[in-house]
Amino acid sequence: MPDWTQEQEDQINDAYWLDQETICPICGANIQVADSQVIGFPKHIYANCVGCGARATIKAAPERNENFGEEQLREFVSLFHRGRTSACPHDGTVLGVEVLRPIGAPNHYIITCPRCGISGQITWDPEV
Ligand SMILES: [Zn+2]
Ligand SMILES: [Zn+2]
Repeated sequence: MPDWTQEQEDQINDAYWLDQETICPICGANIQVADSQVIGFPKHIYANCVGCGARATIKAAPERNENFGEEQLREFVSLFHRGRTSACPHDGTVLGVEVLRPIGAPNHYIITCPRCGISGQITWDPEV
């Protein structure tokens, strides 16, 4: 069974998170990819070529001990309210936005990169 090189695994990893086609660099067939559904980070992806049978467990991203700053969070929320997505500054992956809307209080936003786990929270009412 063939093996991918480190560089090829990096390409598959990027393609998966950037929502591009994951094509096997050895045989050209499609690669089935799933990410670990466990809560928390670091995340891994499981790649499996349907053509040549190459497979690998690949770490999604380097570990990062940091959070988004308030200015970044405000920018992400502003874009979100204009119907646009924001990308992780490290890996370009589309950030997930979770909105909590308590009655009589400003919205609370939790923004997380699903790939590397960098995140931040802000309570803010961008309409005001
Ligand atoms: Zn293959
Ligand atoms: Zn990221």
